[in-house]
Amino acid sequence: MKLCELLENEGVFSFSRIPMSKCRVTKERLLGGAPSISMLNAVILCVIYPTPRELGGRTHDGDIAAFSKIRDYHAYFASLEKKIKRELEARRPGRYVRVFSDHSPIDERRAAVEAGLGVIGENGLFISESGGSYVFLGEIVTSLSDSELSDEGIPRLEKKPRGCVKCGRCRAACPAGCIGEDGESKKTTCVSALTQKKGELSKEERERIIKSGFAWGCDICAEVCPMNGAGQKKRVYPAYFDKGRILGRSAAEIMSEISKMDESTYATYPFSWRKREVLERNFMLFADLAVYDIQGSETKNDDKDDKDDEDNKNG
Ligand code: SF4
Ligand code: SF4
Repeated sequence: MKLCELLENEGVFSFSRIPMSKCRVTKERLLGGAPSISMLNAVILCVIYPTPRELGGRTHDGDIAAFSKIRDYHAYFASLEKKIKRELEARRPGRYVRVFSDHSPIDERRAAVEAGLGVIGENGLFISESGGSYVFLGEIVTSLSDSELSDEGIPRLEKKPRGCVKCGRCRAACPAGCIGEDGESKKTTCVSALTQKKGELSKEERERIIKSGFAWGCDICAEVCPMNGAGQKKRVYPAYFDKGRILGRSAAEIMSEISKMDESTYATYPFSWRKREVLERNFMLFADLAVYDIQGSETKNDDKDDKDDEDNKNG
């Protein structure tokens, strides 16, 4: 099976190849065992995931962002890596092949722009032609040559994708004033980052979270963006994102669903990189905790809490 067919079988329909020399390498240590960068190519992958509307709409009194209502995309990419390695090793043995997402040796958004898959909007999000900004980026880094990747059905996109129309809707809607006139975004005040922050929050931070309506992540600047509008082509995402969806329609229902998860289930969601206490702290800002069954929800995943914050870019 060609690499392009494998990717499509796994629900990835938007991808493009570029030389690694055109990527900004930020964590070269992750390329341990690879040939020199001049010998490597990258296949940038744009994986669509369901929008809040496709997940049944949202609540405004303590929701969680769409990316966290589905199972963790890191596990999806890890499984994809195994399948790609197995397939290529059988036909092209001994080649360097790795798949990364978030915890990546390159600046992924910049590489995706360079690969012709989309643009970076004024809201700071990557906006793809295929799935708007509700996409996960990942990449195959490989020693397969440019012509070998072409033979594998991996295109090199030449067309300039349609971009941010600078309508200002994201700036007007942002509850934290993160998006500047010049399109510069101040991610330190972003609600998504605040909801994922450990420890006590200041009064101002708590107020900002309440104003947003989000207890984890924030979809507001994506929701209002016309690039995520109804005119978009049919969005197809991996079947992996169909199972285990969090379907609660209020903060109480969502928190209750999460509280009932055992540790191994909890670990399959993107928010599990933080202890349950962080989520519970946020939900307490929205409703009476008495309705949540959070008894005995002490977490055992302390080590995840120390994961590099930079490697969790979504929401
Ligand atoms: S809302 Fe408008 S300005 Fe903001 S990213 Fe989307 S198109 Fe660009
Ligand atoms: S994620 Fe929310 S808080 Fe952050 S920039 Fe977008 S709208 Fe503003």
